[in-house]
Amino acid sequence: MLADFPAIPAGWAYLDTAATSQKPQPVIDAITRGYAETYATVHRGVYQRSADMTLAYEAARRRVAEFIGGQEREIVFVRGATEAINLVAASWAGTQLKAGDRILLSTLEHHSNIVPWQMIAEKIGAHIDVVPLTVDHRIDLDAMAAMLTPQHKLVALAHVSNVLGSVLDARRAAALAHSVGAKILIDGCQAVPRMPVDVAHLDCDFYVFSGHKLYGPTGIGVLWGRYELLDAMPPYQGGGSMIDRVSFAGTTYAPPPGRFEAGTPHIVGVVGLHAAIDYVQSIGLGRIERHETALVRQAREALSRLNSVRLFGPDDAAGIVSFSVEGVHPHDVATILDEGNVAIRAGHHCAQPLMDALGVPATARASFGVYNNASDIDGLITGIQRVTRIFG
Ligand code: PMP
Repeated sequence: MLADFPAIPAGWAYLDTAATSQKPQPVIDAITRGYAETYATVHRGVYQRSADMTLAYEAARRRVAEFIGGQEREIVFVRGATEAINLVAASWAGTQLKAGDRILLSTLEHHSNIVPWQMIAEKIGAHIDVVPLTVDHRIDLDAMAAMLTPQHKLVALAHVSNVLGSVLDARRAAALAHSVGAKILIDGCQAVPRMPVDVAHLDCDFYVFSGHKLYGPTGIGVLWGRYELLDAMPPYQGGGSMIDRVSFAGTTYAPPPGRFEAGTPHIVGVVGLHAAIDYVQSIGLGRIERHETALVRQAREALSRLNSVRLFGPDDAAGIVSFSVEGVHPHDVATILDEGNVAIRAGHHCAQPLMDALGVPATARASFGVYNNASDIDGLITGIQRVTRIFG
């Protein structure tokens, strides 16, 4: 699989897939073809090229729907998970919530699953509650069960933590949310690249993810929502393509998903996302999940043998390991690892409330993708041994 990734040179351990994944050749080829051979606008042109591009664009929507178990008309193309969550916050929460209502998040959420809710809660006069973590750093669903009240109208949780790799029992979380009449949004950014996802089985209400973490292009992502919820939501942005009829006397809007896709979309991004889904499915999400879980176990075992290393997250984490080296700032760890051709992430990972809960300013994070193997872990461990030698 490594051979499919031209931007990963021999000897470079790329361990930052949770930030963004490298791109396989079939995705690069699809993007190149999209601009070099088949390019035209969608949904408007009467000429053949545009009609063909429209077919390709809508075929990608069908492919995404199949990929996550939703219906085609429930797939909204957006810029990424961040835009998807902002869309649901502004359009759904902005019209469905009233002063005094409550939103439930968790300690480990990415800022993009916190700040949009804070913005809308402040505007409406709604309140935010935060589900704590268990001792092994999972979202504590027993605590969530005890916290939920009929005032809770929305629960928004990460399917997989971008810092800890903890996997949420999203089906149980959805059942708990529904037991008090709340809707649930699942942030699937770190889940779709590393495990099979079926929104019908999870029984959630909204599911969001970004293409660039799924071996696809940047600037394209997906909002899936139950059709009846999307259909009741007002537009997020106004402009071309999202309308039914425009006049100065008043404008009517297109049904979903078009209602939420104002303006010329990221046409080639959508085509690239289609190729990315084909790519991961040609390997198999079950196989990717087993591969990354095995790498995590191996990495955690090797790291735990180093006295100076503190590990975060559960042992069965998906594809992601956060750690710290005693007495060394994570940025220094990452810099020294980079000198040995190992690329990891260091910082707060857009999860400052989680850093506060862990009692650290930052962590070092290694995250895996389909192209990683045991030699990358060897590189990581050698690099950390060098860190501890340098810092004594
Ligand atoms: N949620 C999670 C769990 C993430 O890991 C990320 C990206 N780090 C996001 C949301 C935001 O995704 P994007 O920046 O692609 O919109």
